[in-house]
Amino acid sequence: MTVAKNYRTATLLVHQGHDRDPATGAAVVPIYPASTYHHPGGKSGEFDYSRSGNPSRQQVEEAIALLEGGCRGFAYATGMAAVGSALALFKSGDHLIAPEDLYGGSWRYLNQVLPQQGIEVSFVDTCEVARIAAAIQPTTRGIFLETPSNPLFKITDLRGVVALAKERNLLTLLDNTFMTPLLQRPLDLGIDVVIHSATKFLGGHSDLMAGLVAVADLELGKRLKFFQNAFGAVLSPFDCFLLARGIKTLKLRLEASQQNAAILAERLAAHPAVDRVLYPGRSDFPGRATHFAQASGAGAILAFELRESSAVRPLLEKLRLPIIAPSLGGVETILTHCWSMSHAAIPAADKRRLGIRESLVRISAGIEDVEDLWEDLQQALA
Ligand SMILES: *Cc1c(COP(=O)(O)O)cnc(C)c1O
Repeated sequence: MTVAKNYRTATLLVHQGHDRDPATGAAVVPIYPASTYHHPGGKSGEFDYSRSGNPSRQQVEEAIALLEGGCRGFAYATGMAAVGSALALFKSGDHLIAPEDLYGGSWRYLNQVLPQQGIEVSFVDTCEVARIAAAIQPTTRGIFLETPSNPLFKITDLRGVVALAKERNLLTLLDNTFMTPLLQRPLDLGIDVVIHSATKFLGGHSDLMAGLVAVADLELGKRLKFFQNAFGAVLSPFDCFLLARGIKTLKLRLEASQQNAAILAERLAAHPAVDRVLYPGRSDFPGRATHFAQASGAGAILAFELRESSAVRPLLEKLRLPIIAPSLGGVETILTHCWSMSHAAIPAADKRRLGIRESLVRISAGIEDVEDLWEDLQQALA
């Protein structure tokens, strides 16, 4: 890496591991589409075949390692490829513990794919460390986490879980998509594997799908590298370029979005059509103290429940400004009806049991003028 590790985050975002092309001095690392690399005299150089390593990919892999304070980073074709590749650290016969409230795609992978591979998963309310402890079995090898959780914003005490995991010799994995390394740095708290859907805030422009993983342990890094190369779900050079470009402006985008989210959360909470608002920045947010003990901001995503679930359809029909879609973390505001979109993979009965209601709407605040967003929400809620 050409950039020293001790720069502050805002600087690392811009300069990343490489802030110019080592070969030419060009101000950006070029897109290296080559699938393979000449071996002079039959000897391989730094790069030999693009699945195993690529300069464009190296840039984002170094960037996420630096930003998360790790030693090794990995870039994958999607966030789910990152989740699946990180979970390849486990094998048949292992048991995992995961939150009952998590991203729908991760729920589907843990609930349907892992059991086919002989890995059993117990879903528990991870807000209480004692419940995780109670779910540990002799074959338990890992704890998969998401905090704040999606879509109910449940907060898991990361220090508490890490202490338990270290005592019981369990691997901890955390999906840090909602917070980004700018607001929450799990490796510093002792989490073993941090995972991102870089499709969201890190990419930031809703024009790319990508996943990232970072670790602080060299041995774990070696195992992830082996699987990444063996399985091959790597991020394409063009998408690496887009992702590196998006990461450069993360601080400006996220701070502007977070400010808008805080304003919308307050105004929605005071609106007669709204039953309750879920946002870590609100004074009455249940997990507030725990959240702010491990994260430096409330983030740019909030959810609210309408008093009547029959009001969801008219809201979605009348809104003009937000993209209505299952995603988040873009410069444009994205509104999600979790029941039918991001969490469609979870059966209705399970959603009801978990407290994910049909009246729940999630907003990922963009960087538009908040008054335009509010005027649009007001007319649609009227
Ligand atoms: C979107 C998302 C994922 C999956 O990422 P993809 O890039 O869509 O594959 C995983 N976790 C969280 C929290 C997400 O929001």
